Amino acid sequence: MFGYTHELSHEWERRTTVRDFHAGLVPIDAICDADFLLKAAAEHHGADSERPCPVCESTMRVVTWVHSERLGRRTNTARSEEEIDRLVAEVGPITVHFVEVCRHCGWNYLLKEVTAAPVV
Ligand SMILES: [Zn+2]
Repeated sequence: MFGYTHELSHEWERRTTVRDFHAGLVPIDAICDADFLLKAAAEHHGADSERPCPVCESTMRVVTWVHSERLGRRTNTARSEEEIDRLVAEVGPITVHFVEVCRHCGWNYLLKEVTAAPVV
């Protein structure tokens, strides 16, 4: 069992970026730059987002990436919730990044950073 604590949300910056894009202040290739690996991770490890892509309105995926020195070579990899559960049980609290990815246009955004910690 694990829970998320210390959430750092980037929703406000996301709204600003989307607004600036629609106002023509940000070029599309500056925000729709998901590479092959990120799109593949979204395909295989992600879950459908409740929100449509803010650029092309396609269905997006949300991918969770784990980060911690204690994870060794497993840091900065995409993981499912079940895998995060196992990793937290093994090494203790880790940082999890929630990234939304549009496989159609390449929009990607770090939505929030949270700490996944064992529930005691
Ligand atoms: Zn899109």
